[in-house]
Amino acid sequence: MKNCILKITLFCTLFLLFSCEKENPKPIKKAYKAGVILSFDDAYVNEWFATNQELKKYGWKGTFFVCRINTLKHHQIQKLLELQKEGHEIAGHGLNHLNAADYTRVHTINEYMNREINPMLYLMDFYGLKVSSFAYPYGGRTKKLDAALLKKFKIIRGRAFREEIADKQGCYFSHSNLIFSFSIDDTHNDFNIPHLLKLLDFAKKHNKILILNSHKTVKNVTGDYQTENKTLEYVCKYIKNNKMKFYTVSNLDNFK
Ligand SMILES: [Zn+2]
Repeated sequence: MKNCILKITLFCTLFLLFSCEKENPKPIKKAYKAGVILSFDDAYVNEWFATNQELKKYGWKGTFFVCRINTLKHHQIQKLLELQKEGHEIAGHGLNHLNAADYTRVHTINEYMNREINPMLYLMDFYGLKVSSFAYPYGGRTKKLDAALLKKFKIIRGRAFREEIADKQGCYFSHSNLIFSFSIDDTHNDFNIPHLLKLLDFAKKHNKILILNSHKTVKNVTGDYQTENKTLEYVCKYIKNNKMKFYTVSNLDNFK
């Protein structure tokens, strides 16, 4: 009997020693709750502002990537400031909405920054918009541009396209400051509600943050680059019913 207790004690000691050795001081990735980022591109400020009135009841949060800030009217700047005050994020999408990859084929990165990024940041800061994220127009990016832009922004966003296998999708946050979004615009070839549901279910099951993007938000679709309010409402209801979370793009900076 004594022998048996001795053997058990020895076994437990060895087990404990072995377990302790395995606890290497690996960098721990910060945990987060499953959720969704709803992002919006271009300059549909009036439409976004109206959609916010509809979605407020879900406690939602959006990230608005604004281009052509120099063409916006005073009342539109006021609307952006109000959205920002409510906890939504206002972010950059280029001053003139140039395709950065195309532009830098014939110009330097410095020329791109001076034409598209620096004046945009100057104006947005002047208006009191706190910009720390950027989305590439048309998703046109290169590694050199990524490196230059990450000196100005905490998170940058490209575009992800549909993959048949859910965990091959690029539209989930993966602890990187370069993220990719999936378009839920109504006429986008890869968009449909069953696919969106599949993406949401995957986020819920595997504790992921799904990154989506839209352009103009509308009641009824009349052309390309439009997302129906009811699609956004569908996402909001899913988040609420499944106790998931809304994130803005800059929130991701806390989980890198
Ligand atoms: Zn755009």
